[in-house]
Amino acid sequence: SLVSIYNFMTKKRFIIFTEIYMKKIRIIFLVISFVSCNVKSQSNNKHGKEYIVAKSENEWKSELSKMSYYVLREAGTERAFTGVLNYNKNEGLYVCAGCKAPLYESKYKYESGSGWPSFDRGIEENLEYDVDYKIGYPRSELKCNKCGGHLGHMFNDGPKNTTGQRHCINSAALIFIPSIE
Ligand code: FE
Repeated sequence: SLVSIYNFMTKKRFIIFTEIYMKKIRIIFLVISFVSCNVKSQSNNKHGKEYIVAKSENEWKSELSKMSYYVLREAGTERAFTGVLNYNKNEGLYVCAGCKAPLYESKYKYESGSGWPSFDRGIEENLEYDVDYKIGYPRSELKCNKCGGHLGHMFNDGPKNTTGQRHCINSAALIFIPSIE
């Protein structure tokens, strides 16, 4: 009948329309994924943030010790109680082992018993707070805001009489500069 022919035609038109539409969607999707891949490969960190001190991984590798490279550039963690600055009680300034930005003052260092240098506060303007999920749950990651180097993590079990914060920092991420007396 005429009705069934009409129905058949509209169905066919609908299928053709869908096919063209799907092709267009596929092309758009391809373009989007290509662009986002390019963006990813251009930036050296997950947020695309550009740091004041930017070096190639080869440059970092040649400048840093193996352990400092592992910590700063690969977000590794040195074994507890192995860092040379863990027990350091001298007066001075702790700077980034990557770019020498001042990060911590000796007057805010305390003995946490964790096995890593611990501070109840840092030099805020040179610190970046991030989140990592390396061990399955979110942790507040501490990074150098000048070079993006990984320093350690922040926890809320610090001294209750001061800030309550514990900046748990890898010794290999820091260089200690003693005060001149
Ligand atoms: Fe740095």
